Amino acid sequence: MENLARILDSFHPGSTQSEYIGSLMRIVREFVIPSYPVLEARIENNKAQFSEGWEGLFLALKDARILAYFVPTQYGGLKASEQDIYVMMELFGYSSPGLGVIFVSHGRAIDLILHGTEEQKQRFLPRLAHSEIGAIAMTEEKAGSDASAIGLMAKRDGDRFVLNGEKVFISNSGLAQIYTILARTKEEKGPRSLSTLVVEHGLEGFSIKDLPKKEGLRVLPTGRLVFRNTKVPSLNLVGEEERGLLLALDVIDRGRIHIAGICCGLSYRIFREIYRFAYRRRQFDHPLTSSQDISFQIADMYCQMNAARGLCFHALNQVGTPNYRLSSSQAKLFATRAVMDVASRAQVLMGGRGYLRNSLINQLCADARGMEYLEGTSNVQKMIMGRELFRIYHKEANNLG
Ligand SMILES: Cc1cc2nc3c(=O)[nH]c(=O)nc-3n(C[C@H](O)[C@H](O)[C@H](O)COP(=O)(O)OP(=O)(O)OC[C@H]3O[C@@H](n4cnc5c(N)ncnc54)[C@H](O)[C@@H]3O)c2cc1C
Repeated sequence: MENLARILDSFHPGSTQSEYIGSLMRIVREFVIPSYPVLEARIENNKAQFSEGWEGLFLALKDARILAYFVPTQYGGLKASEQDIYVMMELFGYSSPGLGVIFVSHGRAIDLILHGTEEQKQRFLPRLAHSEIGAIAMTEEKAGSDASAIGLMAKRDGDRFVLNGEKVFISNSGLAQIYTILARTKEEKGPRSLSTLVVEHGLEGFSIKDLPKKEGLRVLPTGRLVFRNTKVPSLNLVGEEERGLLLALDVIDRGRIHIAGICCGLSYRIFREIYRFAYRRRQFDHPLTSSQDISFQIADMYCQMNAARGLCFHALNQVGTPNYRLSSSQAKLFATRAVMDVASRAQVLMGGRGYLRNSLINQLCADARGMEYLEGTSNVQKMIMGRELFRIYHKEANNLG
């Protein structure tokens, strides 16, 4: 860790954003990439707390001000551009996808709070820019793809809400200090009954429980949030009451491009690992790459990977336009498929070695499969695309005669 300290020591309060990004890239290249296989393999118990081995690296990333990239400068952040954040996500996809998801969730919590009042922004954003981690909690046992089924109840009681219920599969559980949650503020279920609240770690009646261990993305703490008569000040209501789902869906559009970026970085990592293996591995007196079938497979993987990146760049170009939701869903759908395709081909090309539990390729493949569930499954992306395509094309289709 001596070199790590050297990188961080070269920073001072006047360092520019590009200097911070440069340091982040060096930390990832020099420390995260080599540490990933060892540390992921060590994390077997998936506790809803940050694992020991990653602590030093994570603190170094915080020192490189990674938390601030998602926060506007007037609240103490560095506000990186969409392109910079996308590149950062590819970098994490390449080096440690689980770490990348930690920052995607942090970024989404910030995006939600940006829809709040000035007082809320002043209260929470400087903390999220400097030291505290955010999380976004929607999923429940009975409400996964269908967020309108959310049952966590937030009952108004004077100037506070009283929360009762549970959330499951929440990234950054235990690691985060600030949780943005979607809860029901009306008795009847449905999309118009949900509101967004900020819940701080340590509040009475709010606890975090472990979930059974995951197959991949082991560095990402994923847990269960339990609320028992938890009293949250009504000052923590973000946006209008009963408009919470609309806010969350808005914010997730951005998250989809970031998850797609992680998929692209991860595809590239798997591609490079498998190319090196296939080039070095000799069977029947030849390297595997000299077999036509294998070189065709590698060409297919390369196409998938680059097509996914192309759709991500397309989506980045649509930020702020009416087609943003369509293109971010399209990018996430395709990038998830691409990484899963690249991963499963790579695993077969590795032969028996690819099936060993803690082999690098097996770990990367498990991470690739995890991408399917984040920010909506592939079927959910298709539902969104179906709705958006209808919105855009139904009038034209009607007029075709
Ligand atoms: C590693 C990890 C991290 C996560 N982090 C978070 C987080 O930070 N915050 C959070 O809120 N959630 C988080 N989640 C939860 C994730 O968002 C959900 O797993 C996801 O939304 C799917 O919900 P579900 O698992 O309940 O599956 P279900 O909704 O039960 O779906 C099961 C299957 O059925 C399909 N399906 C469902 N309905 C339909 C339909 N009408 N038509 C066609 N197919 C359908 C789905 O595509 C899926 O394949 C995380 C999950 C994982 C694995």
